[in-house]
Amino acid sequence: MTFIPYSRQNIQQSDIDAVIRVLQSEYLTQGPAIARFEQAFGRRHGVKHALAVSNATAGLHIACVALGLGPGGLLWTSPVSFVASSNCALYCGADIDFVDIDPATRNMSIPALEAKLVQAEQEGRLPDVVVPVDFSGLPADLKQIRALADRYGFKILQDASHAAGASYLGAPVGSAWSDITIFSFHAVKIVTTAEGGMVTTQDDALAAKLQLLRSHGITRDAALLQKKDQGGWYYEQQCLGWNYRITDIQAALGHSQLERMEDMQVQRIARANRYDLQLAELPVIKPARLADRLSSWHLYAIEIDEQRTKVNRRQVFDALRAAQIGANVHYIPIHTQPYYASLGFRPEHFPKAMHYYERALSLPLFPAMTDEEQDRVASVLKQIFSN
Ligand SMILES: *Cc1c(COP(=O)(O)O)cnc(C)c1O
Repeated sequence: MTFIPYSRQNIQQSDIDAVIRVLQSEYLTQGPAIARFEQAFGRRHGVKHALAVSNATAGLHIACVALGLGPGGLLWTSPVSFVASSNCALYCGADIDFVDIDPATRNMSIPALEAKLVQAEQEGRLPDVVVPVDFSGLPADLKQIRALADRYGFKILQDASHAAGASYLGAPVGSAWSDITIFSFHAVKIVTTAEGGMVTTQDDALAAKLQLLRSHGITRDAALLQKKDQGGWYYEQQCLGWNYRITDIQAALGHSQLERMEDMQVQRIARANRYDLQLAELPVIKPARLADRLSSWHLYAIEIDEQRTKVNRRQVFDALRAAQIGANVHYIPIHTQPYYASLGFRPEHFPKAMHYYERALSLPLFPAMTDEEQDRVASVLKQIFSN
């Protein structure tokens, strides 16, 4: 019995050829493949500026810096996310807090956000940056978050690490509502560069800052230099930045993957639809579907419905693993991590996130998954619940 992972990269000969072409070319890094990838990604997502970075975590970091987050600042995000969504605040010396989730979408709850903003205004401690996460690839309620951002004066940094190719209110994720959007190209994500990420924005000034921050704070752009006509070798470090660049090898892989993103999306949607049918009679809660947005289906996350079964999540997880099926759990709520507990967070601070976590399970879903593999997952699940 072969192991079925929860996610698996999809590498074709065209991807391999694209990487080899770069290896045989003049540039391994800081060459033309990066700009080509950025332009193609920006076009596909309807966004003016797309800057490739070494990973999405690095992208979140420089996005926070570009948005002015620093010591004394405050960032809010969803507890049902990967730790990178909140660590970025701490990198900047800012404070972190969370907004509980909407149990239906598992994204940041708008009523909870609004209530927390009302209270924060009274206490004089409004957030500077809010990071909505498009959990599992289902876009967050960005229109409502934008209305609140305009009213309360915070910036929106959208963590769309799961959501390349997803759309919301008819427009690609990243093209509207947020100030900056981040995508991840980690191997399990929608398209991959092994490690990598993209920072997108419609704002020229933010793009210029991000450009500096991802490469040491250095520019060679004659129009930006403070000292003019110093010679062809001249560059200036104008702020403190990092080396968060991607390589041309990775960019070529990403560009090649991007050309197949639509096809892979169709395959993911087909798998999700098929799961919906296969699980129809089982005591599980299936992922939400909303008419105004299209998920990228990075994850197919279910909840074991304890109202309808005595089998708990741990038992389902263990039975799947015993059957060589790589179910997973996304995510252990960030605020329950020992590091975050040491900052004063307690599990009960975000009860909806905890309730979700206790029942959550991500089933295998990846573009090249076969009917046979998916049938195996479904039949093991049916068996578990029939006992
Ligand atoms: C994967 C992921 C990240 C981090 O992405 P890297 O590219 O691995 O740094 C951040 N946020 C979320 C929600 C993710 O899933």
